[in-house]
Amino acid sequence: MSRFDGQFAQFLALRRSENRLRALRPVQPYDAVHLRASGTDLVNFCSNNYLGLTHHPVLIDRAREWAARWGTGSGASRLVSGTLDLHDVIEQKLAGLKQAEATLLFTSGFQANSSLLPALLDHRVLGAKSLVFSDQLIHASLHHGCAAAGVRQIRYRHNDFDHLKARLTETAEHRGPRFILTESVFSMDGDQIDLAALIELANRYDAFLLLDEAHATGVLGPRGMGLAAAFPGQVDLVLGTFSKALGSFGAYIACSAVLRQYLVNRCAGFIYSTALPPPVLGAIDAALDLVPAMDRERARLHANAARVRRSLRAAGFDTLASTTQIVPAVIGDETATLVAAGRLENHGVLATAIRPPTVPPGTSRIRFSLSAAHGDDDIERLLAAIPTMRP
Ligand SMILES: *Cc1c(COP(=O)(O)O)cnc(C)c1O
Repeated sequence: MSRFDGQFAQFLALRRSENRLRALRPVQPYDAVHLRASGTDLVNFCSNNYLGLTHHPVLIDRAREWAARWGTGSGASRLVSGTLDLHDVIEQKLAGLKQAEATLLFTSGFQANSSLLPALLDHRVLGAKSLVFSDQLIHASLHHGCAAAGVRQIRYRHNDFDHLKARLTETAEHRGPRFILTESVFSMDGDQIDLAALIELANRYDAFLLLDEAHATGVLGPRGMGLAAAFPGQVDLVLGTFSKALGSFGAYIACSAVLRQYLVNRCAGFIYSTALPPPVLGAIDAALDLVPAMDRERARLHANAARVRRSLRAAGFDTLASTTQIVPAVIGDETATLVAAGRLENHGVLATAIRPPTVPPGTSRIRFSLSAAHGDDDIERLLAAIPTMRP
């Protein structure tokens, strides 16, 4: 028993009474998209394993090989003795693929976002306080970063650049730096931004553009390298992860060489955390070799998503502005959404109910994540189950 369990239990009881208690549920994966949960075989439609790389033999072999040659751990943080040749190799390979001046590895996307913002927004370094403009739907890790930096965000309506422009104009008299924080593909809605328009706006207001490409990396842009890869040198900082389409773990940023060096000296989440270990680096290295050439898999992924979207719409579901591998089916009511998820599971389909506070009240939804590894039979199983989701 821990000291304040009484209070913690009270919080949990409240959550339970609201039907919002979350719990962990172990699953046993067979391959990239099939698993067993609670004794039932299910097709996984709620993983970010968009290219099925988690079970790719080349990644598995290289992870094994690099562990055997260089050990299972890096032993220290990057600035102590944790920087292996392997980190350099990957950062350079990635910079080439992203057409970026420099890249820097992080242990996770959450860690990167939550720790690089306090470094970026330091008014003692910038010489003035910054204004931070952010899309209403940005990821929790970016909120943590802003909170750690002690800044109040100026939120603009989701993906509404007219609103962003209005907010930038309202604050035109501000003399300090401006930052815009957004994602290129939004994790709960599956829509994407018009990056050309955003770059133009950022340039017009001289705003630093931070683009989180967690869900676009491996999936969109030239050679699957994210939307920013089509605009080399025009986004100040791009973040991506290796944990979603790239099938393993970790994150990176792409930025200028000076900014990279600044963060190496200034970003607590980079400085005070152990370097990514050799087996993970092996999987990353293999993924970076494979992903640029996976256009066929990307085409299959987008075709799978389009099929599911069409079928959901035909059944009367709102799929919002989804144009990507993430396809929401809005149900609205929380309980009805849980019921729908249960019915899908009875049909062998695993897809999570997403409810407030993750999404705004009244927009509870089932969120489907497609994978290139889904076979036609998997997609057909889902299409057959869609009509049962109706309240
Ligand atoms: C998943 C995600 C992250 C966090 O990345 P991890 O490597 O899983 O910590 C950050 N930003 C966005 C938009 C994400 O979807």
